[in-house]
Amino acid sequence: MKSPMLIRHSIVFTVLLFCAVPSPAADIDWSKARSEAVQLLQELIRIDTTNPPGNERAAALHIQKLLEAEGIETKVLEVSPGRANLYARIKGDGSRRPLILLSHTDVVMAEPERWSVPPFSGEIRDGFVYGRGASDMKGTAAVHVTLMRLLKRLNVPLKRDVILLAVADEEAGGAGARSIIENQLDLIRGAEFLLNEGDVAYVKNGKLQQYGVDVMEKAALWLRVTAKGPTGHGSVPLANSSVNRLLEALDRLRAWETPLVVPPAVAEGYRVLAAQQSDPVLKAAYADLEKSLRTPALRKRLLSDTTLNAEIRNTFTITGLHGSDKVNVIPGTAWAQIDARLLPGETPAGFIAKLRNVLADPDLEIEMLEGSTPTSSSADTALMSAIRTVAGRRDPGVPVIPTMLTSSTDSSKFRAVGITAYGFEPFKMDDGELNRSHGDDERLSVENVGFALQFLYEVIVELN
Ligand SMILES: [Zn+2]
Repeated sequence: MKSPMLIRHSIVFTVLLFCAVPSPAADIDWSKARSEAVQLLQELIRIDTTNPPGNERAAALHIQKLLEAEGIETKVLEVSPGRANLYARIKGDGSRRPLILLSHTDVVMAEPERWSVPPFSGEIRDGFVYGRGASDMKGTAAVHVTLMRLLKRLNVPLKRDVILLAVADEEAGGAGARSIIENQLDLIRGAEFLLNEGDVAYVKNGKLQQYGVDVMEKAALWLRVTAKGPTGHGSVPLANSSVNRLLEALDRLRAWETPLVVPPAVAEGYRVLAAQQSDPVLKAAYADLEKSLRTPALRKRLLSDTTLNAEIRNTFTITGLHGSDKVNVIPGTAWAQIDARLLPGETPAGFIAKLRNVLADPDLEIEMLEGSTPTSSSADTALMSAIRTVAGRRDPGVPVIPTMLTSSTDSSKFRAVGITAYGFEPFKMDDGELNRSHGDDERLSVENVGFALQFLYEVIVELN
């Protein structure tokens, strides 16, 4: 007969087998781990890394101190004076290729007078950590660092090396990530997977709808279009002035309807959303987006959704115009700035050629201020399977869907060197929470910190 003790052990053993979580998970005091991550989040918020100027070196040094105390190998990699990336690595047995946990330590500016708490206080109120960077993305950085501490402390057997990168300057050009790709590629050579900011566990009307995993993102192409013409006095109009030529070309541009292209991840995402629609028209339309877009009435309805519109075509937005600073002077040059966003499959040069055709004025100058080629990762990988497994265990029936970001992150730079990069932060958030990122009263719930910590721990174990 088994003693009660043995029975208890065998139940624990069975449960562990059933959950496919190896024993170290059982040894973790999750409430303590969550407190550690929350405290680190508060500390990181209190290090003001508003970019510009960034000053991310201070954040890198703080993380380094915590990781070195656990005996984890780290490096502070200078990007420019006062700015640095943090690199850390826990070795696996090398039988599988490394996983990278990527975050950025810089934040966008905050206007304290618009906040209800000081934005760099890291104050906890009503179960939320408030502060600039709480959700974008010091929260995930704190979770990643805490995961490293747990993996090391518990001596979790790993097949893959787990690499932590907390980089500078994601919000204003990506110099931190670029510096690693250009100068320290050896540090991440051979890495197979990368987890970064991006999509979340999306909540609507208090109900968890889906786990979104961003597998592709559009690329920004920023342009300046300049027209030249004769100068003169505003009292004597000139039909061929720079301003007139620019406006005529921009009128042609505004009328341009870029072709519709439905990326596979977007089609799949809407197929899943179809099931959640109460409106029968949308239910049918989402089920086969490509086909629905060929029906004029449906197409009009679908394209009136500005998010959907941006997900299925290359877009351009005229965001600035400049002519003369003096009201009575006809300027010799006039320019417009254009924020174009390209889908995977398009290139900056290819899009500029099409734009030039539409502008239809050979004398206009088109200058590329910034541009990169859009990137995507396969949605059919061991990392996606691991995320699906953990999501299925935590929230059975909630779909995990690959998604596309219409903006861009550092993931694109790592995809470009062959790493499968997913934007995935398992925070349960609705639009109200999401809109605080880059906005006022940015915050992250303590509960979400704990949830993401356990979720990602299980993903690492599954993927191992
Ligand atoms: Zn971010």
